Amino acid sequence: MTEEEVVAGTYCGRCGRELTDGGHEDCRRALALEPPRYCADCRRRMVVQVHPMGWTARCSVHGVLEPASEDLR
Ligand SMILES: [Zn+2]
Ligand SMILES: [Zn+2]
Repeated sequence: MTEEEVVAGTYCGRCGRELTDGGHEDCRRALALEPPRYCADCRRRMVVQVHPMGWTARCSVHGVLEPASEDLR
């Protein structure tokens, strides 16, 4: 097995539906600006905290998710 650095996940972080369901263009756009509400791996509601520097979203199973900071300006 190989460990991927980036895991796309199964579920949409904004609306919680499966990514294969389609029609998530608006979600992707929104997720560039706001934190996801659902865990992409298990679809649980995440505990979201917004900070001046960004945000963190915590899944009770998968831990803390943080925004990819490389593209932040
Ligand atoms: Zn969506
Ligand atoms: Zn999770």
